[in-house]
Amino acid sequence: MDIKGLTIKKIHHGLVKKEFSSKELTSEFFDFIKKEDGKINAFLSLAENRAMKQSELVDKNIADGKGPGILGGIPMAIKDNILIEGLHCTAASKILKDYKASYNATVINKLNDAGAIFLGKTNMDEFAMGSSTENSAFKITHNPHDLERVPGGSSGGSAAAVASEMAIAALGSDTGGSIRQPAALCGTVGLKPTYGAVSRYGVMAMASSLDQIGPFTKNVEDAALLLKTLSGQDIMDATSAPVKFGDDLLNPKIEDIKKLKVGIPEEYFVEGLDKNVADKINEVVKDLEKLGIKTKKISLPHTKYALSCYYIIMPAEVSANLSRFDGIRYGHREKADNLIDLYKKNRELGFGPESKRRILLGTFVLSSGYYDAYYGRAQKVRALIKQDFDEAFKDVDVILTPVTPTPAFKIGEKADDPLAMYLSDIFTIPVNLAGVPAVSIPVKNNKGLPIGFQLIGKHFREADILGIGQFYEKLYN
Ligand code: GLN
Repeated sequence: MDIKGLTIKKIHHGLVKKEFSSKELTSEFFDFIKKEDGKINAFLSLAENRAMKQSELVDKNIADGKGPGILGGIPMAIKDNILIEGLHCTAASKILKDYKASYNATVINKLNDAGAIFLGKTNMDEFAMGSSTENSAFKITHNPHDLERVPGGSSGGSAAAVASEMAIAALGSDTGGSIRQPAALCGTVGLKPTYGAVSRYGVMAMASSLDQIGPFTKNVEDAALLLKTLSGQDIMDATSAPVKFGDDLLNPKIEDIKKLKVGIPEEYFVEGLDKNVADKINEVVKDLEKLGIKTKKISLPHTKYALSCYYIIMPAEVSANLSRFDGIRYGHREKADNLIDLYKKNRELGFGPESKRRILLGTFVLSSGYYDAYYGRAQKVRALIKQDFDEAFKDVDVILTPVTPTPAFKIGEKADDPLAMYLSDIFTIPVNLAGVPAVSIPVKNNKGLPIGFQLIGKHFREADILGIGQFYEKLYN
């Protein structure tokens, strides 16, 4: 059986027509992972027994005439900061090396109920801090398009798993670009939903006011299918919103799509943007115009402050969220003579350099005497960045930008230069600060390394960005 080129819909049809069983399909995926992942290193752990049992259940439901639903039997990979009961969950950190989750994240419960199959947990930057997956304590993931290059990060394992077809779809988390940036570098679709659209319960918090969970998929339609299931208010997450997406997410109409106006912000086409990336984005503009969509130049004047603002707010929240990892409540525990030494040893040996850097920075910007000068100010700047989007969205419905300044860089190229690494997220971070949804879609008609374009929508208007994306892909079918 050939698993290449499969999508959610194709698998669904195959299962319904009984061309293959869920069990056969799942074991094909494990065979392929065992052959392929030695060179890519997308997975930190596999969940073969559990997955095979899940697949038997899907087959039983089909035999009993009860299914499969659209996600039934879909082989998925899950970022290792999302809890699946009974499975290891490490966030790629030594401090959680032996930790096993005691409950399911809400997104996992939803996918479970829908019959999706979890193949395993994917590699990432430690606690989702990074842009290349090189900050994992355990292994380096390679970009399937060029093994000497990074897959992006922090959800690099999830992106690489889908790009190399070891999974049909994957979940990631996005605090400043960690779904969209690796999706762009690996040539998959990656969606960061509106803040509050998807429950964060059971996902290890990095920066709670910025984090969102979202899917990696091979096409935009699959991302829409997954969002429909993942979204919805959750009593376990006070920031989740009472919004249910409608069928316009799945069946966009060209008449509606043509009415959308797309803005192109001048601040995103500046020095440092690779010429090839800029040219490809211009081709996308022409493609959208071919669809009958109107485009215009716009301005998001506070864009230049986004990165500095993010690198105050995010570490502040990181320092608070990571304080729970002390070796007492979770994970790895060292031997020590007294309590203070115990904390010190566990955290000293458990966290990698990037986590420590951010905990220190965050503690500093929140400390008395500096709070107003840094954290308080950054919050004000965040409001201005959000206002830029509010203003722009009075005039246009969707904003089109590059996802990353360059295609995938070489492993090791930026590993010792945190500032150069931080710049990889310059086009994705403003979206998290504003809480709006955005999707990264691979540019078609592209021969070299993958390049992505980003469509940013109004709050809870995922239907607009995913609608345009679906029609863009049809141009190349
Ligand atoms: N790369 C960014 C960072 O290092 C974003 C991380 C993320 O979205 N989780 O903070």
